[in-house]
Amino acid sequence: MSTQATVAGVQVDLRHWIGGERVASAETFEDVSPIDETVLAHVHSGGPGEIDRAVTAARSAFAAWASMPIGERAAILHRVADGIDARAEDLAQVETADNGALLRSHRRGVMPRVAMNFRHFADHLQTLGRPDGSIRGHRQRVTYDPAGVVAIITPWNAPLMLATWRIGPALAAGNTVVLKPPEWAPLTASLFADIAHEAGLPAGVLNVVQGTGVEAGAPLTAHPDINRLAFTGSVPTAGVISRAAAANIVPLSYELGGKSPLVVFADADFDLAVGLAVEQFDNSGQVCLGAFRILVEETIAYSFVEEVTRRTRDIVQGDPRDEKTDMSCLITRSHFEKVDGFVSRALEAGAKALVGGGPNAELGGLYYQPTVLVDAEPGSEILTEEVFGPVLTIQTFRTEEQAISMANDTRFGLAATLVTGDPVRAERVSSALVAGTVWVNCFFVRDLGAPFGGSGRSGIGREGGDWSFEFYSDIKNTVFSPEGWRTDTSTTGEHHG
Ligand code: NAD
Repeated sequence: MSTQATVAGVQVDLRHWIGGERVASAETFEDVSPIDETVLAHVHSGGPGEIDRAVTAARSAFAAWASMPIGERAAILHRVADGIDARAEDLAQVETADNGALLRSHRRGVMPRVAMNFRHFADHLQTLGRPDGSIRGHRQRVTYDPAGVVAIITPWNAPLMLATWRIGPALAAGNTVVLKPPEWAPLTASLFADIAHEAGLPAGVLNVVQGTGVEAGAPLTAHPDINRLAFTGSVPTAGVISRAAAANIVPLSYELGGKSPLVVFADADFDLAVGLAVEQFDNSGQVCLGAFRILVEETIAYSFVEEVTRRTRDIVQGDPRDEKTDMSCLITRSHFEKVDGFVSRALEAGAKALVGGGPNAELGGLYYQPTVLVDAEPGSEILTEEVFGPVLTIQTFRTEEQAISMANDTRFGLAATLVTGDPVRAERVSSALVAGTVWVNCFFVRDLGAPFGGSGRSGIGREGGDWSFEFYSDIKNTVFSPEGWRTDTSTTGEHHG
C-alpha cells in the first residue's frame, strides 16, 4: 500500500499524522480529481482506532502546550504561517488538483488567508482579556483558560482555509487538535501537518486522521475525551453529529449551509449589482456564503436580468489551472448529479433557464454550466434548498417590505447582500435582514476579527476575534477577597514566625 503520492508535482504523504509521526491504516479510500476524474491517490482511511490514538496523543500534549508562555506559543504559530507562505505554491497546486477550484484564486486569495488564520489569532491572543474588576471590595479576574482537545471536521469546498480558520484560534487558545479532513479533498491537510511540524509545533498538538465521515468523523464526534467540536459542513450531517456530541455535553461551533439572498433595489448602482450577481459563480457556486437567491426590484428587473444573462454567457469555463478560466467543475459525480437533479426538477416544474440549465456538453466530465433560472415556483425546492452549485434564481419584488420578507423567507441565515444607493434604506433594510453577515454594496469582505457564523439552520455560535477565543476557552472568573492574607510576604510556604 502506498504511503506517498505525487500530485501536481508535489509529494504528499497519504497516512495520518498522529502524535508527531505518520501512522498507516489497513484500508484506503480513493481520492479523485474533479478536473478530469482521474484517481490522484489512495489515502489511508482511519476509523475508531486511529481516532482514539489521535485523541490520546492530543490529550498527552495538552498540558505542556496549554502552559507554554503565550509569547512562545504565538511565535510558533507565526512560524507555521511563514511555512504556509513558503509552500503556498505547492498548497495551491495540490488544492486545485484535489477540489477543482481555480488555481489563481488559491494563489492570490486562499493561501495568503490560510497563513493569516495563524498570524491573526497568534496576535489576538496577546491582547485577550481585560483589566481586573472589583466587586464589593474584592478583586475579580477573568481568564481565558485552554479548553482541552478540540475536534475539527471540515468540508471540501475550501479545505485548508476552513480547517485552519478553526485550527488557528484553537491552537492559539492553548488547545490541542484532532482534524478530520474531507474525504473528497484530503491532501492539503497532510501537507499542512508537515508544515506545522517543521515550524516546531510539538508532537501531538496537531493530529490529522484521514477517512470518511461515517468511519472517522463519527467516532471523533462521539469520543468521550474531546472538549470542543468545531464542525463545518451540511445541515443533515450537523444533525447526526449533534446527537453524538450531546451524550458527552461537548460545546459545539457549527458553520453550515445557506440560501442567502442578494437584494437589488432600483436605486442601486446597476453595474455593481450585476457584478455582484455574476460573482456568485465563484468556485462553481460551491460557496456556503453565496447569494444565489437574487431578489430584484420589478422596475429594473428586465434590464437587470438581461445584463446578468449576458455577463453569465461571457464566463469562461474550463480547466481550473488555466489563468483564463473563470469557472471550473463540480467536486464529484454524486454532487454533480445532485446539482443537476435540482435544476432538472425546477425546469420540469416550470422554471426557465435563461442561460445554462445543464451539464456543459462540450467540456463533459464534471463541468456544469453556469445557470440562471427565472419563474421558479414560489416555495419550490430550488428557492428554498441549498444547491451548492452554479445556479442563480432571480425573483422580483415591488416594495421594500416585500423584499425584506422574501429575503428572510428561509430557514437559513448565513449571509445577506443588499445593493442600494440610498444610505437610509441601507440602514433600515440591513437591520431587518436575518443573517450572521450582511454586506451592503459589497460581497465577501471579511475581517478575521469580526464575528462570523449563521442564524437559523446556518449554524450555532460565532467565531472570529474574541468570539473564537470564547468558544475555544474555558472562561474563568476568579474573585480575590481583600481579607485572609498573611502579613509576611514569604512565598516559600514556610512559616518563619
Ligand atoms: P458534509 O456535511 O457532507 O461533510 C462535512 C464533513 O463532515 C466531511 O469531513 C465529512 O467527512 C464529515 N462527516 C460526514 N458525515 C459525518 C458523520 N456522520 N459524523 C462525523 N462527520 C461526518 O458537507 P460537505 O458536502 O463536505 O460540505 C458542503 C456543506 O458545507 C454545504 O452545506 C456548505 O454550505 C457547508 N459549508 C459551510 C461553511 C460555513 O462557513 N458556514 C463553509 C463551507 C461549507
